[in-house]
Amino acid sequence: MFKVEEGGSAYGARLVATQPLTAGTVIHRITDYRTTPHPTYQTIQIGPDTHINELGMVAYLNHSCAPNTIIDTSELTISAVQDINAGADLTFFYASTEWEMERPFICLCGAPQCVRLMAGAKHLSVDTLSRYFINAHIRAFVLESLGVPALAQ
Ligand SMILES: [Zn+2]
Repeated sequence: MFKVEEGGSAYGARLVATQPLTAGTVIHRITDYRTTPHPTYQTIQIGPDTHINELGMVAYLNHSCAPNTIIDTSELTISAVQDINAGADLTFFYASTEWEMERPFICLCGAPQCVRLMAGAKHLSVDTLSRYFINAHIRAFVLESLGVPALAQ
């Protein structure tokens, strides 16, 4: 459903849809990875102290402030959140998984709602985060940062 393409973007390599993808479609299940307690620029955070690494092609899923996919870290799935044309870059919103990024960057995605500095959810307002799909561990960190007691499990 997608492939890695080199060049042609601010990020270098990127994932590109090889066919039209319908909103809601699970386009990938992440089954090949290692866990690590330490974030790097290549990891995806899936829990308070858990990051996954050695993700193969998924490592090339770039950030956008107007993303066309989401990563659900409880299911380890990547889904289309809008209809995507063949040939389009696949992107997700890094702050939906990352609380504090090891390597922040100035975002050049060009979206009207671009957050400009992507350093993880910790550095974004609740108002900004509320416009996005955000994973449970990030919601928990936000509530903790606001002093809201965690809900009973
Ligand atoms: Zn942006």
